Amino acid sequence: MRTELPARSPIPRIALAFACAAMLCAPCTLPSQNEPTYDVVILNGRVMDPESGLDAVRNVGIRGGKIAAVSTDLLKGKTSIDATGLVVSPGFIDLHSHGQDAENYRLKAMDGVTTALELEVGVWPVREWYAAREGKALINFGASVGHIPARIHEMHDSGTFLPRDKAAMDVATPAQQKAILADLDQGMKQGALGLGMGLAYTPTTSPEEALDVIRVAAKWKRPVFVHVRTPGGLTPGIVDSLQEMIADAAITGASVHIAHINSMANKETPIALQMIEGAHAHGIDITTEAYPYTAGETRIDSGVFDAGWQRQLDITYSDLMWVDTGERLTEESFNRYRKQGGFVILFTNTEEMVREAMADPAVMIASDGIIQNHKGHPRASGTYARLLGVYVREQKVLTLMEAIRRSSLAPAQRLEDASPQMKNKGRLRVGADADIDIFDPAEVIDRSTYQQPTRYSYGFRYVLVGGIPVVRNGKLDESILPGQGILAR
Ligand SMILES: [Zn+2]
Repeated sequence: MRTELPARSPIPRIALAFACAAMLCAPCTLPSQNEPTYDVVILNGRVMDPESGLDAVRNVGIRGGKIAAVSTDLLKGKTSIDATGLVVSPGFIDLHSHGQDAENYRLKAMDGVTTALELEVGVWPVREWYAAREGKALINFGASVGHIPARIHEMHDSGTFLPRDKAAMDVATPAQQKAILADLDQGMKQGALGLGMGLAYTPTTSPEEALDVIRVAAKWKRPVFVHVRTPGGLTPGIVDSLQEMIADAAITGASVHIAHINSMANKETPIALQMIEGAHAHGIDITTEAYPYTAGETRIDSGVFDAGWQRQLDITYSDLMWVDTGERLTEESFNRYRKQGGFVILFTNTEEMVREAMADPAVMIASDGIIQNHKGHPRASGTYARLLGVYVREQKVLTLMEAIRRSSLAPAQRLEDASPQMKNKGRLRVGADADIDIFDPAEVIDRSTYQQPTRYSYGFRYVLVGGIPVVRNGKLDESILPGQGILAR
């Protein structure tokens, strides 16, 4: 038995009973009580399961990558983790994680994320994307098929992640539209978890064309993950944008998930949340997400910065921070960098609106993060620790159980109709996948900043993916890469 920390019996009397029983039957050949029954046991932790509401000290036994026991009995395993004083929760599922490489997976694991999904922009081609990560990922991964990458491909745009020219500026010909729809259908056939859309990045997508795209998702009964057309409080703005999605969902029967409501609605967050909850209450399958930061991030060479962006976003040049250097922009540097291309951070929101989103039980937590060459937005590495440290512990905006639910169970439920794999994620119960976080609720905190966005979060002592610790005693362990692809079936 390998002991991670000094293992203390949670119930010494039972251990004593085992010892006595073993002595009594010394001559007989009953299976020894000393044989480890589990691969890993987590002892004495405060087990929190948002599905059943369990919040009590329990021992957890893991066998074959699955949770095999949640018990007050003493459990024995080949490896034993002492979780005394720590919370044991389902691993977090990030529905909005653009960073899908080893560097980003490391940051995610240290922030308690066991499954990171690229659902908003999405990918194309889908099969190749999954194949490139199979057996090489620290955490679980998955993607939607993306309208943006399909449009970039079919319209010969020069952008790689987001459109830079033709896919953003030209209207797709009927032949191109047909080819894009065929690409999306092919991605669905290959197991994409849904359909990604970013109408703000492809403003030449007409409402009719968007409706046709959403019909593909409806046909496959998988959600659309959308960065809506226009942010902010003007007309058009977030209200019109949400109305388009709600109408398209009603027309097609598609499920719709609105990406980062915080950075789209900004000061209009209360009305945007009311719209989403109202539509949901009247039978539209619509959900949303937010991240706990007042700034967003996107590419400066994207459609977000087309003429009129200052009015639309209610900001000016100095509210923009160039990611590579940390400098605030001027009109001159804005124009120079827009030609060059790259990521920029936008300070558009207020702390009050972020709190509003964090407090709303309908809002899932998702990071929208990407780090490239150690640069980016701190949300990529700190979203979940910040949620737990700042908004649960310090500000008491939501309860710990509610934060766990909106970071694990709710995202799993969003996807489980499309992907049966998700039915066994986001839960801490027998039969669920052993994707588990063990963290200190009194200490967990984000450390990444706008200046240093790749600082690891603090407080996640253990993070298990399929029963394999990828964070051990607060440190990464990359000796095994247990991450698996999550697909629709
Ligand atoms: Zn977005």
